[in-house]
Amino acid sequence: MAHSRLASPTATRAVLDAHGLRTRKSFGQHLLIDDNIVGRIVNAAALRPDEVVLEVGPGIGTLTDALLSAGVRVVAIELDRRLPAVLAELPGAEGRLRVINGDAVSVPLGDVVFEGDPPRAFVANLPYAVAATVVLRFFAGVPELERAVVMVQSEVADRMAASPGSRVFGAYSVKLGLYARVTGTFAVPRACFLPPPRVDSAVVSFERVTGCGDDVLREAAARAADAAFSQRRKTLRNSLAAGLGISSAVAERVLLAAGMSPGDRAEVYGIPAYVELGRTLIAEGL
Ligand code: SAH
Repeated sequence: MAHSRLASPTATRAVLDAHGLRTRKSFGQHLLIDDNIVGRIVNAAALRPDEVVLEVGPGIGTLTDALLSAGVRVVAIELDRRLPAVLAELPGAEGRLRVINGDAVSVPLGDVVFEGDPPRAFVANLPYAVAATVVLRFFAGVPELERAVVMVQSEVADRMAASPGSRVFGAYSVKLGLYARVTGTFAVPRACFLPPPRVDSAVVSFERVTGCGDDVLREAAARAADAAFSQRRKTLRNSLAAGLGISSAVAERVLLAAGMSPGDRAEVYGIPAYVELGRTLIAEGL
């Protein structure tokens, strides 16, 4: 049986034609047309009956259809004003799908609920321009969110999944790593979308991690990472000093206090080191 009734070129064109719509490049609209990929996404999400799932950028509802069929309730955020009417026609949408017509980067987090219940899972073929931002935003801002399975541009997937020491391990990898860890990825061919995007895509699965302290500590760790990676090719001593607006002598002292070597580069350290550095910044009143 199909996972989504809309996951084919024919069905997708039929819905677009019926509503007199064309996909918009400015909205990053690349609709999934491959039911096998839809199935792999939904399976990876390990959905539980009736739980609330967040979807960002549902489009015409290709993935949404599979989510509703899996028996969950969906709160979806869609920027395109033409699409809520299309989504309302999905079978099973009534009472199970709530569409917020807005921008996932700025919609108030308190609004992202289904009948008062916050989402436990985040499942989406994301608009690539804001994908990295929204994944971090919802993990940081919705403490009830346990896991996510999202389609992103493959370069973004690489930054999300990067390990310390890797060329693409950066401030974003640290900041997201304070909230979630990657549990799997798989590549998705361009031909699985209509129209095909000009970049490669990958699906990334996450689960929330605990143990990186409270919001205050995570905020300080994020600040430390932003400063440390502000000048990648410099030593930690110099990049931290420049990034925080402190002297290199003070930078050296806080790095040593956090157990980091001032002459190292930022990318050699993992999440725990940045949590320690954040703790030191707080202790030093920086
Ligand atoms: N999930 C659908 C469509 C993915 S294309 C599918 O798999 O077929 C990306 C979708 O994100 C489009 O519907 C686009 O209109 C929407 N979008 C773009 N920017 C957005 C933003 N900032 N907030 C919410 N939705 C956005």
